[in-house]
Amino acid sequence: MDWNALRAAVADCTDCKLRATCRQTVLGVGDERAAWMLVGEAPGAEEDRLGEPFVGQAGKLLDNMLAAIDLGRGRNVYIANVLKCRPPGNRNPEPEEVATCSPYLLRQIGLIQPKLIVAMGRFAAQTLLNTHATIASLRGTVHRYAGVPLVVTYHPAYLLRNLPDKAKAWADLRFAVKTMSELA
Ligand code: URA
Repeated sequence: MDWNALRAAVADCTDCKLRATCRQTVLGVGDERAAWMLVGEAPGAEEDRLGEPFVGQAGKLLDNMLAAIDLGRGRNVYIANVLKCRPPGNRNPEPEEVATCSPYLLRQIGLIQPKLIVAMGRFAAQTLLNTHATIASLRGTVHRYAGVPLVVTYHPAYLLRNLPDKAKAWADLRFAVKTMSELA
């Protein structure tokens, strides 16, 4: 699937029950040749309304964190989610939804061919690494998804509820920057 086919397939997808309750699919945003790819969980209310990932409160925090390492959406960064449709009431993705939707994410990664993936939160990390391990145990190590280096950090929405863990997320971002600099 090329980008056009992927865009069309996601827009027309009714393979799980989520499309019946969301407003629109949210594929991703940013530079389709980016070196950095960030992966979150699923669209929330604002993302569902606007059709773009991470545009609500968690997105503002993410934008600030990216700015601090001199990155921004569309500037060498691509942002996507595991699920392309909003789960009703922002509930957690169900395993069948992740299984049905994740091939779209995997195809995005294949098309972008990022140098580094940052998996934000448990659903992104567990989906891409095919594990049930916790974020705490996965942080601080360079993993690989299909050969692409991958680092794990907390989800921005979690950080909004657990401010003390922000320091750990900063450490993760610094680790990501260091990992990227050693790749070049
Ligand atoms: N949380 C996510 O995981 N993704 C979004 O796009 C917004 C909030």
